Amino acid sequence: MSDVTKEFELQTDKLLAHNYPCRKCGLETKHQTVSRYTERGAQYYGGHHIDWAESNEIIQCLGCEEVSFRKCSTNSESLDYNYKTGQPYYVETVAFYPGRALGSKVIDHWLLPWSIGEVYKEARTAIENELFIIGGIAIRSLLESICSDVEAKGRNLAKKIDDLHARSLVTKEGVETLHKIRLLGNLSAHAAKRHTKDQLMLALEVVEHILIGTYIIPARAKDTFKGLDEVKKLLAPDDQ
Ligand SMILES: [Zn+2]
Repeated sequence: MSDVTKEFELQTDKLLAHNYPCRKCGLETKHQTVSRYTERGAQYYGGHHIDWAESNEIIQCLGCEEVSFRKCSTNSESLDYNYKTGQPYYVETVAFYPGRALGSKVIDHWLLPWSIGEVYKEARTAIENELFIIGGIAIRSLLESICSDVEAKGRNLAKKIDDLHARSLVTKEGVETLHKIRLLGNLSAHAAKRHTKDQLMLALEVVEHILIGTYIIPARAKDTFKGLDEVKKLLAPDDQ
């Protein structure tokens, strides 16, 4: 038989601010800890015991004011040593909810065609939450959805990517990256191969540029200059 003991503590004041990644700002910013609810537990069995602590925090970015959640866990089985001081310390496992990825901001996906926006959100969420095999498959699927929507020509994805370049939707350098994304999706789908977060973030960034250029800027321009089309209609051809 084993005995488990647990205790809980709620802290709401005298909490220090820390630098954490912010999903909305796309970079590490100072966050206020609004409240912290800590569980401390121990389990005894056969003369041995394990201790753990888990702090659950509501945090708020002091830049954009976005509120999110941070969980930090430690346990007595995961000890490491600081080789400079010789002191042991508990290894922290940290998770943020919602997940987040630095270096890239979420684009205005509500301006995308519905089905492409849905694939985009899932691809991004997978990468932010470190689901790297699914993230690779989702990015390739996003690329296929774009090719299908713009009716790119070609009997396979490789030819369709070349057609995107022929139609000036992607630069020559962009095409090379898109072919890497295509291979990335193949490996994820057929060999269940994981890619690094950096590779997937770069791939996502290239696809985001296509989405911005193909859908988001035209949608914004249409909205911003909508009065101009009316003026053009009123002007004589020589005045245009
Ligand atoms: Zn922020």
